[in-house]
Amino acid sequence: MTEEATTEHYFGGCPTCGDNDGCLNVGRNHWYVCHLCRTKWLVGSNLFSGWRDEDETIWRRNWARIADYREVVPVGQRQAVPPPD
Ligand SMILES: [Zn+2]
Repeated sequence: MTEEATTEHYFGGCPTCGDNDGCLNVGRNHWYVCHLCRTKWLVGSNLFSGWRDEDETIWRRNWARIADYREVVPVGQRQAVPPPD
């Protein structure tokens, strides 16, 4: 592991390890997480349509899983560029 973690992940990576474990939706908010380091970062709201197919049961379960994770500023996040379709 290098001192400055870098990442190729479009929505950024964990500042500790540079990785991410994907996205968990809580309502229309998209949280990216690193389960190993227990970190999370919010990438935006309603960027992906997937949240519409989910329901409160899923969102509550997602949040219960990440509520205690530390909110961090990800590395390599390219916020200015819209996500690919
Ligand atoms: Zn990590």
